[in-house]
Amino acid sequence: MTVATQTRPSEIFTSACTKLVSKEGGTEYPLKAIHICEETFAPLEVAYDYDLIRRHVTRETIQAGPNSIWRYRAFLPVEGNDLIDVGTGMTPLVKSRRLARRLGLKNLYIKNDAVNMPTLSFKDRVVSVALTRARELGFTTVSCASTGNLANSTAAIAAHAGLDCCVFIPSDLEAGKILGTLIYNPTVMAVKGNYDQVNRLCCEVGNTYGWGFVNINLRPYYSEGSKTLGFEVAEQLGWQLPDHVVAPLASGSLYTKIYKGFQEFVKVGLVPDKAVRFSGAQAEGCSPIAAAFKEGRDFVAPVKPNTIAKSIAIGNPADGVYALELARKTNGHIESVTDAEIIEGMKLLAETEGIFTETAGGTTIAVLKKLVEAGKIDPEETTVAYITGNGLKTQEAVQGYIGEPLLIDPKLDSFERALERSRTLERLEWQQVLV
Ligand SMILES: *Cc1c(COP(=O)(O)O)cnc(C)c1O
Repeated sequence: MTVATQTRPSEIFTSACTKLVSKEGGTEYPLKAIHICEETFAPLEVAYDYDLIRRHVTRETIQAGPNSIWRYRAFLPVEGNDLIDVGTGMTPLVKSRRLARRLGLKNLYIKNDAVNMPTLSFKDRVVSVALTRARELGFTTVSCASTGNLANSTAAIAAHAGLDCCVFIPSDLEAGKILGTLIYNPTVMAVKGNYDQVNRLCCEVGNTYGWGFVNINLRPYYSEGSKTLGFEVAEQLGWQLPDHVVAPLASGSLYTKIYKGFQEFVKVGLVPDKAVRFSGAQAEGCSPIAAAFKEGRDFVAPVKPNTIAKSIAIGNPADGVYALELARKTNGHIESVTDAEIIEGMKLLAETEGIFTETAGGTTIAVLKKLVEAGKIDPEETTVAYITGNGLKTQEAVQGYIGEPLLIDPKLDSFERALERSRTLERLEWQQVLV
């Protein structure tokens, strides 16, 4: 006689990840700290047993899970139960009213990772996953090649997990990004060079030192964390996919992983299938993917970055060709905007929605505006703009482009004179707009 045991899904279900698979050729590898196929040099990607997930995961089991990315742990590449959960994920999906009206859109949403935990950018997602996996694989020192936000995240979450940490950044990063790393007391290597040079150096260091580089030898695990940007939006829209996504592109990883997240939810029956259009945003001063898209090329020619949008300034993007492919097959667009437009984008989002984003978010909003003006986004489409980082970290970008406080004496008449002056100025500005 067999005894039926009542077991909660979370108890019988530990892990559904099965292996690493090459994105070109499909060669399979074990779930180790490797990231490139030995035969084709293509990136490796984590594969899962979707039948297992389908049997154990429902909307209800997800909703009963933690209020963080780990509610989707069945879809994440970890094997044990020792999760690093610092409250990452489940950031607000804001229905836009004033920005939507300004742009003439009816169904615009802002996914606000400017308030992600613990370091106010989407990178907290990928790092929470990568460091959980790093610990499972036995690493005691973790590292990364960063454009700023990744260093913040790796340093903070390594501190929380008690891992040794050494991060590599370009030496010319914004002050807020450097300070926001140093406070966690990791070793910080400020490299005299751009991100692509930092990355090359880190590949060499990784080969010799046996460290867990979150975006190099741990990249297959790291990049899976971005799928949660897709899962959350689907859940927050009431278990539906949007019609159109606009996201920033640096390496192209997060953009392609949002797609993978949507596909997985469809595959296991959590949401109905839908054709989602994927549009991507780059800064003109570093727009190798947008240039390839515009010129109809199927390869991405590396460029030397020169833009205020430093967090997305990757001249030689690892997932560039996959991003190109995705934009084309989903009928999306990849556009670039100037630094001046990026600043305008930051101000526009702040003034209409009360969200202060960094330069990457300014890039996304400026591209959103450009696509709407070019008739490439239908006003009726449910459109989600992904805001991936916080403006307090890139203050120098808007310095000199915003107003100043009115300096007054602690006296009522001083206040009244200042108020009158500012109103007169406002009227004059309006008159200038009108003539
Ligand atoms: C890293 C980063 C991105 C882009 O990430 P990729 O996955 O490399 O394309 C976008 N926005 C912000 C704020 C980032 O820090």
